[in-house]
Amino acid sequence: MSAKRPPLRIELSTPVQFVKGVGPKLGDRLRSAGICTVEDLLDWYPRAYEDRRVARNIASLSPGELVSLRATVANVSQYTLGRSRRKVYDVTLKDDSGRVHCKYFRVPYRGYFERFPVGSSVRVIGRVILYRGQIEFHHPDLADDIPELLAEDDVIIPIYPETEGVNNRLLRKVIHSALDTFRTERLESTMETFPKRILEEYGLMGRFEALSMLHRPSKDEKPEALALFQSAAHRRIIFEEFFWLELFLATRKRGFTEQLGPRFKSLSESEAEFKEALGLLPFQLTGAQMKAVEQIFREASSSDGRRSIHRLIQGDVGSGKTVVALLSAWLASRSGYQTALMAPTEILAEQHARSARSLLGPMGLRVELLTGGPVNADKRKTLDRIAQHEADLVVGTHALIEENVNYKRLGLVIVDEQHRFGVHQRAQLKKKGPNGLSPHLLLMTATPIPRTLAMTVYGDLDVTLINELPKGRQPIQTRLGYESNRRQMLEFVRSQIEKGRQAYFVYPLVEESEKIDLKNAVTECEKLSAAFPTCRVGLLHGRMKNSEKDEAMLRFRSGEFQILVATTVIEVGVDVPNANVMIIEHSERFGLSQLHQLRGRVGRGAHKSFCILMIGHAVSEEARERLSIMEETTDGFVIAERDLEIRGPGEFMGTRQSGLPGFKMANLVRDQKILEAARKAAFDIVETDGDLRRVEHQRLKIELTRASSYRSLAGIG
Ligand code: ADP
Ligand code: MG
Repeated sequence: MSAKRPPLRIELSTPVQFVKGVGPKLGDRLRSAGICTVEDLLDWYPRAYEDRRVARNIASLSPGELVSLRATVANVSQYTLGRSRRKVYDVTLKDDSGRVHCKYFRVPYRGYFERFPVGSSVRVIGRVILYRGQIEFHHPDLADDIPELLAEDDVIIPIYPETEGVNNRLLRKVIHSALDTFRTERLESTMETFPKRILEEYGLMGRFEALSMLHRPSKDEKPEALALFQSAAHRRIIFEEFFWLELFLATRKRGFTEQLGPRFKSLSESEAEFKEALGLLPFQLTGAQMKAVEQIFREASSSDGRRSIHRLIQGDVGSGKTVVALLSAWLASRSGYQTALMAPTEILAEQHARSARSLLGPMGLRVELLTGGPVNADKRKTLDRIAQHEADLVVGTHALIEENVNYKRLGLVIVDEQHRFGVHQRAQLKKKGPNGLSPHLLLMTATPIPRTLAMTVYGDLDVTLINELPKGRQPIQTRLGYESNRRQMLEFVRSQIEKGRQAYFVYPLVEESEKIDLKNAVTECEKLSAAFPTCRVGLLHGRMKNSEKDEAMLRFRSGEFQILVATTVIEVGVDVPNANVMIIEHSERFGLSQLHQLRGRVGRGAHKSFCILMIGHAVSEEARERLSIMEETTDGFVIAERDLEIRGPGEFMGTRQSGLPGFKMANLVRDQKILEAARKAAFDIVETDGDLRRVEHQRLKIELTRASSYRSLAGIG
């Protein structure tokens, strides 16, 4: 059979050129836009809809509405915006009732504006925006009016993302052709991936039906529901996107439970000892800490299957995650196992080693600190002690996973601020367990993670919430600070220092950047020294040598420095209880979660703490509003949710985190409810039929293997 001959029947995997009416030439064009198969084509979802039943004129537009407008092109111009030098393309439209501007801040593709000849009649679709008292459109879609292509009842027209060489008219034609072939050949049901039970239980429409509705909405559809991705068709597709990820996570999690973990002593076996250990702590555990500890103890000692723990410990900044980790290390040690605690920075590793020594030392645990650098005589000895099991807890940076580190009986792996590490770094550490056993794994987060992200990026882990702060913590008082009030701010800092407290000044950059005039930590440090002649001011930034950083940190902790000028190096986990003032310069440059994390460096002791978010002269109203969330709440979970809404998942997780699944239609902020349902559906299936053996799950099994791209998308090796 010739490879060029069209396949006998259309399938989702059929190359797009075999769709009726396409052929090799158009096929090439589609392929270069990334549409290679029928499935790619049908998954090319409309980004908006045009409702032809609504006739509008410019005078009747009101802000917030999604409309389609037919008008005449009056003018096309281009200019740069203020100091940002951003290019704006401005298309002015007019009709008998008035004029309106359509603004584009980037060009969709080369030659795009040639589609707006002055004097011609065009139809644009978009949301009406009120900007500085004027009504306008930003990036409206351009609808191409080709009446002959539209059937009588085609009144809601899908608008596709603009791509060079493939316009809306063409896409509509080709997609309709593919859908028609499925229909005329009665192959609609071959598209279905879900068992009937799921469709019924979750009230989902069939896949073919959903795709037809998205690409060719009937005139009875509600245009607003379509526009907001809230139609039944959208729900089905979004559900499915989440479902494949969750099914993957569910099977992966099941894989973890099959890993054999070491069995630790149970609470009852160690009760007297544990009480004694608790008595040696300088404080009483909070209820939430106690619950977390008990949960870990229970799991690690369970005899049924001795499964290896994979648990994420989530708690707000300052909720006391460290002691939970350290008590787990205590249990490991009492059970004859070693613990490795990995931290992202040397400062943090040293701090953990210090608190481990002071908390666990009295309980008889031997703590070692292992950091990077060449193997000298000292390090050699440390490595020997680890290999001989003369160390119970090894605290360190990623040096812990290096090849030359051998543990005799590694039973527990703890990763602090785990978002700084890649997935395979923790896997590597887990591999260092004794003969075939997989050490238990506890991950601790820096900042609270919104629920939806926890369900996707960490969806294969069990989660423990520490939702309580130690008693006596007073909420940190937060205020926005303006340049005009800098003198008062400095006075305030002075008054706190006179009471014996210490202060942080945080800057977004280390050295002066030529382009952006940011105050930088180095020159500001000198200025502050002059402003506070009786104080000693320390400096801490990322370009310093590790030994210099440690020294600065130590001198601040010991009280020798009253002020520490720092960049975000101090963002993670640094703990100096006597410091109660934090000034964050150019706070508008930070994300909310990052600010929360920074702010968490104060409010750790018994003194009332303050955080002042300084903002520059030219900060937008929007930025100010965003920052004011920090004044309103100190609840890290609330802040994390808002941050996710504002910046989206990618920015929220930061560039170092690869664990974000790419969705075509689903949106973690908008579609939370659907995500929860899809997750339940997937986990229920794996619970009852873990290997997907049942007949009705065969299609799921195939699709899961096929969707293995999620494996890389989810950053999971
Ligand atoms: P995080 O959860 O941000 O990692 P830490 O573990 O660093 O928080 O704890 C923050 C501070 O609270 C530390 O100084 C720690 O000693 C203290 N702390 C932890 N638990 C308690 C408690 N139950 N009571 C009082 N102070 C506590
Ligand atoms: Mg911490």
